[in-house]
Amino acid sequence: KKLGIALVGLGGYAEHQLAPALKETQHCYLAGIVTGTPSKIDRWKSEYNIPDKNVYSYENFDQIANNPDIDAVYIVLPNGLHAEYTIRAAKARKHVICEKPMATSVADAQRMLDACRENNVQLTIGYRLHFEPHNKRVMELGQKQVFGKVQSIEARNGFNITGSNPNVWRLDKKLAGGGPLMDMGVYCVQGACYTLGQTPVAVTAKFGEVTHKTHFAEVEQSIDWQMEFADGVIADCSSSYAEGQGLLAGKAANGWWRLSPAYSYSGLQGETSKGKMNYPQVYEQALQMDAQALSFKNKQKLPISGEMGLRDVKILMAIYESARNNGKRVTIS
Ligand code: NAD
Repeated sequence: KKLGIALVGLGGYAEHQLAPALKETQHCYLAGIVTGTPSKIDRWKSEYNIPDKNVYSYENFDQIANNPDIDAVYIVLPNGLHAEYTIRAAKARKHVICEKPMATSVADAQRMLDACRENNVQLTIGYRLHFEPHNKRVMELGQKQVFGKVQSIEARNGFNITGSNPNVWRLDKKLAGGGPLMDMGVYCVQGACYTLGQTPVAVTAKFGEVTHKTHFAEVEQSIDWQMEFADGVIADCSSSYAEGQGLLAGKAANGWWRLSPAYSYSGLQGETSKGKMNYPQVYEQALQMDAQALSFKNKQKLPISGEMGLRDVKILMAIYESARNNGKRVTIS
């Protein structure tokens, strides 16, 4: 049986990536929707064949507990709402896929983990690049030391938001938790960690200059940071909301690699010191949700666990603490 997934929040990512991917998945399908915008309901119902009884609002969301069609919910809301809806889903005894970044504070991420543990449901994060072949190759090159010991990592990710309306949740501190670091920089944090298969021991960071004051009244415009790993490897990273960038590169004793674009839904390009990478285009979100659905079904814990989401929130918060304190070295517990 395919598992039934309910999407919570029908914004850009849910509409243009996740829902279409759920037409391709083998182990799960789009069974329900949770939305605060009634005008969206008819179109989604007919496009995805969703019965009335599987349509929820944010107010009656908790009644999803009584719906056997829904096995798991996928939280695709602004970052600051991930905790509330993950905890409500856990109490409704549904497995949870939560979008990145898992939460806007360490305390929230911990509460989410606790709620899922107490209610005996699984929690996993929408880290789609774990299923993407170029990024999987980087994990292998770094973790298996294919070119010898890794010496340094470089990771950059950003896009230009300054052409858009400044009244979007991504620029609202409470809803986003921060600026490009939370949204795009989390991919660099992930990239450095999965290159090495390790968690950093300390970070240093610096906010960039604000040149677009109307957009960046609450959150940073850009940020540079370094992650220090136990064996001395440094990952040099940056993230921006004023510049498009997407890079994950590594240098090892006997070779190097470089992905750019590194984090996109399609069109990734990779090269190593041995030549161009040649991997097929995959449907990242479909592979991700199928793997997560199988782990729910078989009660197996995925490598992309809620604990990994919590670890990353700890790193993001340490980066902000360093940036607020003039680049002070902040250790990660
Ligand atoms: P979006 O702005 O397109 O959609 C957000 C949705 O949340 C909208 O439907 C909006 O109506 C709803 N919403 C409910 N309460 C809201 C409130 N109080 N304020 C604002 N909106 C509210 O955003 P998105 O790009 O779909 O991002 C949603 C989540 O998905 C974020 O956590 C984001 O980081 C994540 N995301 C992940 C990826 C990925 O590749 N994994 C890509 C894009 C977004």
